[in-house]
Amino acid sequence: MSSTINQGILLDDTMLSYDFGNGHVMNAERLLAAYHLLEKIYITNEEAEFQLITPEDYDRKYLFKAHTRNYIEKFEALSQQGKGQALEFGLGTPDCPIWQGMANISNFVVKSTVTLAKQIYNGKLNIGFGLLGGLHHATAAEASGFCYYNDINVAVQRLKALNPDIRILYVDTDLHHGDGVQSTFYQDPNILTISFHESGKFLFPGSGFPLEIGEKDGEGYSVNLPFYPYTWDEEYQHGFDQVFPILFEQYQPDFVIWQAGGDAHIKDPLGHLMLTSHTYRHIGAQIRDQVLKHMQVPKVLMLGGGGYNPYSNAKSWSNALSGLTGVTLPDRGPESWIIQCKSSGIEVNPSLQDTQSTPIKEDVDQITTGNAEYLAQLKSHLTPYFSL
Ligand SMILES: [Zn+2]
Repeated sequence: MSSTINQGILLDDTMLSYDFGNGHVMNAERLLAAYHLLEKIYITNEEAEFQLITPEDYDRKYLFKAHTRNYIEKFEALSQQGKGQALEFGLGTPDCPIWQGMANISNFVVKSTVTLAKQIYNGKLNIGFGLLGGLHHATAAEASGFCYYNDINVAVQRLKALNPDIRILYVDTDLHHGDGVQSTFYQDPNILTISFHESGKFLFPGSGFPLEIGEKDGEGYSVNLPFYPYTWDEEYQHGFDQVFPILFEQYQPDFVIWQAGGDAHIKDPLGHLMLTSHTYRHIGAQIRDQVLKHMQVPKVLMLGGGGYNPYSNAKSWSNALSGLTGVTLPDRGPESWIIQCKSSGIEVNPSLQDTQSTPIKEDVDQITTGNAEYLAQLKSHLTPYFSL
């Protein structure tokens, strides 16, 4: 992007405490390799022209707009005890276990995302990336899928307080459906949620089908394109490109939030999509194209979301951010990064690019037919609202 674009990343050691411990996939290690790589490429490399953003305190009334008082109070009490259960709030399950300090670190995530949202809204930044943000499954009174506080929903509430008429485009390319954001704003035409994910027929949280289009005033403003397991780079990009640019152009957002989950990568242990660094870069570049074409002042908040393989996360997020900002990535990760990863016990391959994924032969027809059906359904459900 041009030099008039202000870019920043929020990196802070505190985020490494979002760690469920005991061999859980949601641990500090998942962020470490990415943390070091992003620091080397974007912060200590002056040519990249990125600012390091530090989280600022925010008014907790916005947390109370996104979550119920009962939920927050119960969550904080359990966090202090470090044990217990409140299943009516989704607290104390294998996905959302109870551990000491979980409320503080969850609040830190919210603080980080709200800081970025505010700085982007005020024009201090045009593009901001929060590595530990995008906890998209939590709802007002329920923890879900490793997420206790939904930092995205709090940031949206903060933005709405700054401008009640703001039009927000939320694009979610995590492996999983962005259910907690979609359901919260299901009746709201001022936030267009578009989620691309592995089909809920095969994966948590089991939702995110094309017929989920919003309701009442929000009808037509929830968009879902699921993909069959083992969808590869080109096939995914085809679906994305058929939907995203057209909706962006027709919606004309004032603010963009991108949840760029690293778990749709082929090497991720949780899902079955086969995306590589190429698709992460492609999505970033597509968002950049639309932003530069249609927004007078670029305002894009990118959040890391899921991703449970330390090495593929480092590649996915670096490539995604490179696509979004136009900063060129080296072919190989810096030596100091490799040394740092090895000292943390993380195996890395120096190359920052993957080989593009190709279809697994016996499944090709089933996948392309299934994906084409989903795309056709999406188009037919959205035709009254958008010209697709
Ligand atoms: Zn996910």
